[in-house]
Amino acid sequence: MRIEIQLRIVGDDDRVISVDKVLHLEKSDDRLEAVGLSLGEGKAVMAGIQERVVTAQAASFLDRHRCCSGCGRALLSKGPGWIQFRTAFGTIPLNSPRFHRCRCQPTASRTFRPLGELFTERTAPELLYLETRWASLISFGLTAQLLNEVLPIGSTANACTIRRHLHKIAARHDADLGGEQQGGLDTGNDQPLPQTTVIVGIDGGYVRNWYDKKRNFEVMVGKSMATGRNDRYFGLVASQDEQSDHRLRAVLQDLPGTPAVTMFTDGGDSVRALAGVMAPGAVPILDWFHIAMRLTVLGQYTRGLAHHNPVEAAALESRLERIKWRLWHGDADEALTRVREMAEDVVALDSAYPKLKRLVKVTADLATYIANNAAALSNYSERWFKGERISTAFVESTVNLVVSRRFAKKQQMQWSKQGAHRLLQTRTKALDGTLRDLFTTWYPAMAANDNQDPALAMAG
Ligand SMILES: [Zn+2]
Repeated sequence: MRIEIQLRIVGDDDRVISVDKVLHLEKSDDRLEAVGLSLGEGKAVMAGIQERVVTAQAASFLDRHRCCSGCGRALLSKGPGWIQFRTAFGTIPLNSPRFHRCRCQPTASRTFRPLGELFTERTAPELLYLETRWASLISFGLTAQLLNEVLPIGSTANACTIRRHLHKIAARHDADLGGEQQGGLDTGNDQPLPQTTVIVGIDGGYVRNWYDKKRNFEVMVGKSMATGRNDRYFGLVASQDEQSDHRLRAVLQDLPGTPAVTMFTDGGDSVRALAGVMAPGAVPILDWFHIAMRLTVLGQYTRGLAHHNPVEAAALESRLERIKWRLWHGDADEALTRVREMAEDVVALDSAYPKLKRLVKVTADLATYIANNAAALSNYSERWFKGERISTAFVESTVNLVVSRRFAKKQQMQWSKQGAHRLLQTRTKALDGTLRDLFTTWYPAMAANDNQDPALAMAG
């Protein structure tokens, strides 16, 4: 049979602007694979419709702007011109003539293109969104292949263009962060709004450096959890980020009142520094999991000592138990004093234990670790009895989710710091579902488009 697809475009005044045959298809009906539109036919239909729709919209806009907006006089043509508009359903060439400005409009430029006021960008926001979303989840190259396969965009979708677009989106988001000043995490405001309790965990991960293949650099990833809404992610490369103090605020800005933030960290220097910049008013808590891990390692070394110095080893083990108890109850001062004493005694040990050096180092490191994180030691016992969180195992899985799967150290992927930082901006939003919201703040009409239920003409 022959399938004909016709398109009728009707103006607001009910005048039929165009009736066009988009394309016709010859379809057989004797084999399964011939049933329905093929991918290629579907792409051709979309491309054909899009070209006519965009052309009609541009022409209608141009028609409305042929006269001076001030005095109504017809504008004098200066000459023809063309622009290309990239959409998810093809790149459309558009007639964009240049006009002389009316004498009643004193401006610097003598001529202008009216269409330039509608097409402020050459890529449709919808396509930008698609490119950014998929490139945040899979590689730039695969994104180009995927989009090419399902959309009639021809060769315009390539890895370089998509990367450039993603960078542009991330940079624009960063610029927005710098601009916004409202809201905040500072305490001291007597706001009558209910306080939302937010748990935030941040941790670092490593990706391979493009410029120095043998080295990795650190990326920071965080997750915020508040009751009544989905979790949000954020990420950054510290040296590339001028907005660290705004980043958490942006993630929390839709919560009512001034959120009370509890910030979990692993106690590492870079993470602790970032936490201080990000949320100076937050309650810092050193993740119990990381304390326990260090105590476990130290315990293994003291048990190893038992083969050589059983008496000393037993004494150390019981001291370690008491230190653990102090830490569990958030008594940083006493714990620190005891660890320091223990470190001195371990140094003074006279033993043939081959791992004595390691034991000395691990004990000294624990003392430094507690000293650095004294302010973040919480009364874990009390929290635990109250059913409050003492650890955030979720943070490690966040690093895996946000960093490992896209930045893939194992696949020898390499990143520039700026590239990693920008990808983290869009990837965290693609993962927590807020990327579309970011676009609708820039392009408000996208939301209306989303909500529009296209009225499909029913047969019969
Ligand atoms: Zn005029």
